[in-house]
Amino acid sequence: MSHLYVHVPFCQRRCSYCDFSIAVRKRIPAREFVDVILKEAEPHQLVDLETIYFGGGTPSLLPPEAVATLLNKLREAGETEVTLEANPEDVTSEHANAWRGAGINRVSLGAQSFDDNVLKWMHRSHDAAQTHRAVQALRDAGIDNISLDLIFGLPEELHRDWDKDLEIAHALRPTHLSLYGLTVEPRTPLDRWISRGATRAPDEDRYAEEYLSAHKRLSAGGYQFYEVSNASLPGFRSRHNSAYWSGQPYVGLGPAAHSFDGRTRRWNLRAWEAYRLAVAEGRSAVESEETLTEEQRELEAVYLGLRSSDGIAVGTGSIRAVPGWLEVRGGRLKCTPEGWLRLDSLVTYDSATH
Ligand code: SF4
Repeated sequence: MSHLYVHVPFCQRRCSYCDFSIAVRKRIPAREFVDVILKEAEPHQLVDLETIYFGGGTPSLLPPEAVATLLNKLREAGETEVTLEANPEDVTSEHANAWRGAGINRVSLGAQSFDDNVLKWMHRSHDAAQTHRAVQALRDAGIDNISLDLIFGLPEELHRDWDKDLEIAHALRPTHLSLYGLTVEPRTPLDRWISRGATRAPDEDRYAEEYLSAHKRLSAGGYQFYEVSNASLPGFRSRHNSAYWSGQPYVGLGPAAHSFDGRTRRWNLRAWEAYRLAVAEGRSAVESEETLTEEQRELEAVYLGLRSSDGIAVGTGSIRAVPGWLEVRGGRLKCTPEGWLRLDSLVTYDSATH
């Protein structure tokens, strides 16, 4: 079994907090994209794929025929989880039906918030009503496995009502939710607004409060947090992302895509044009690579294990229980929601003291 990620770098504009590797385009060069991805895929043995994930950027900007062409060539028949990240404004009935016909069976929707003022502040191109319509269009087309992304920890002056957003998200009953705390990345519009005092930096207390209230609300509603930022209804964990978190090999195609063979991680050139040119001219698209030492692999397994609800075996390395943060449940050491909040400092603590 193997896993394939395809990075679609195109966006129509840049969101205020985003530092991803994207190419802002009014016209999407779909044909060039399909050709170059298929060319990059040639040397790879893409057999027995368990999951395929179109991430971005905004994969829903690709014409559905381009998605269909890629899936026709890259995928064999079988029980593959095929996810497409989509922005709500791109999800029309026509697109949803075409995606379903092409083999997409899971859609991850960038909802982010149900407050239109907040969405404007984020420079998103959709409003809350479009997210509701998108969910309906996907379900009408037979795509019931829907994940919603939400961002929490926004600056106070936006007066974002996080509990209300959680209620709305919960009422939509997606199979999966991904919750991301707002971070300020260098050279983003948000970074510039903060530098010139036009907005305040996100507040740590608010971040913690909202993260913990999401755990409470969603757990009470039948969702299981199976990773720091991800919750699902039973049976609907993301198989693709779970593969990353359990250290399984995967192939990444497209600009900035990462691949991992179990020991070595490689990543492609970030800029679309540089990547396209390299592949078109028959050169390698890989920008760089790192081979993990045994020690790095062990540390990574501990870190990823602690990020997941499976935790790690008691007695792994020198990790011990920390009351309230890291507890033994079912014979394994697992983070509490408070522990997940502090996970980064826990890992630093351990590696700094041993
Ligand atoms: S749509 Fe996603 S990838 Fe594109 S700019 Fe916004 S956050 Fe970044």
